[in-house]
Amino acid sequence: MKCALVDTDGVVRHAERHPTDTGRGPDAVVETILTVAEGLAGKARADGLTPIALGIVVPGVVDEARGVAVWSANVGFRDVPLRDLASARLGLPTALGHDVRAGGLAEARLGAGRATGHVLFVAIGTGIAAAHVVAGSAATGAHGAAGELGHILIRPDGPVCGCGRSGCLEALASASAVARRYAELATAVTDAEPGAGVTTAPDGGSAAGPGPGRTMVTAAQVAARAAAGEEVATRVWREAVEALADGLATAQALFDVATIVLGGGLAQAGAGLFDPLRAALRDRLTFHREPQLVPAVLGDEAGCLGAALLALDQLETP
Ligand SMILES: [Zn+2]
Repeated sequence: MKCALVDTDGVVRHAERHPTDTGRGPDAVVETILTVAEGLAGKARADGLTPIALGIVVPGVVDEARGVAVWSANVGFRDVPLRDLASARLGLPTALGHDVRAGGLAEARLGAGRATGHVLFVAIGTGIAAAHVVAGSAATGAHGAAGELGHILIRPDGPVCGCGRSGCLEALASASAVARRYAELATAVTDAEPGAGVTTAPDGGSAAGPGPGRTMVTAAQVAARAAAGEEVATRVWREAVEALADGLATAQALFDVATIVLGGGLAQAGAGLFDPLRAALRDRLTFHREPQLVPAVLGDEAGCLGAALLALDQLETP
């Protein structure tokens, strides 16, 4: 859990991290959220600040209008009225949002998409999710499930996705998918120096544990090996870039944004991702205008800043 005290200018005054430890079950996670939020409000008051609102963002399906965490695969939320629980505990007006949409909101208003108006934020980590931000507001969808870009169909005969269907974008181009594909193709390869000098983002570089006899490296390491000219890595990286370009071309046809901001672990591959991806996207656009394609700049603070923006926004629109 990434938590912060943020002032009305979007400046982080204090930040904390706490383990989520989802294995304890959703009730315990909710209790930790409320306890941590209470602690932060207390810390603000002790520092002579006045907390005026609380923003909480969570993964999964989130009904922002009702303030309910509807469903989450990894935390186990099922219809948790988190907004009302938090406002009752802290006595502060509370907004509940979705983690990726909040991150996109922050990148669009305070970060890489600043001043460009129409922004698509795409987070590429263990999965792929997006937020479409127009005029400073992220579309939620009718059921709180907008932005599931990872589950658009890219290769009908492709690998099975976590959602159960074959060929979804995130089964082909997420950080986990890149690592998994490399492991499949490089089974026979043993490498004495896996990913030397490459660091991996905590939110997306690594994948599920290695299978028997497999070489398991992270997506960031695959990118580095591709840049160094390794054959298998080059092939895996090219396939991922092409799938991602297919997905972004579809998104651009739907949303016609000025700027696409890529965040999450995979986006840290830098020019090794952005150069071929820009070219591949350009190849796929016909009459559509090419968006700027830029890396996220707020890092893992984006979610906290987005939560703060949601908290402040609801004060203006009661
Ligand atoms: Zn899927």
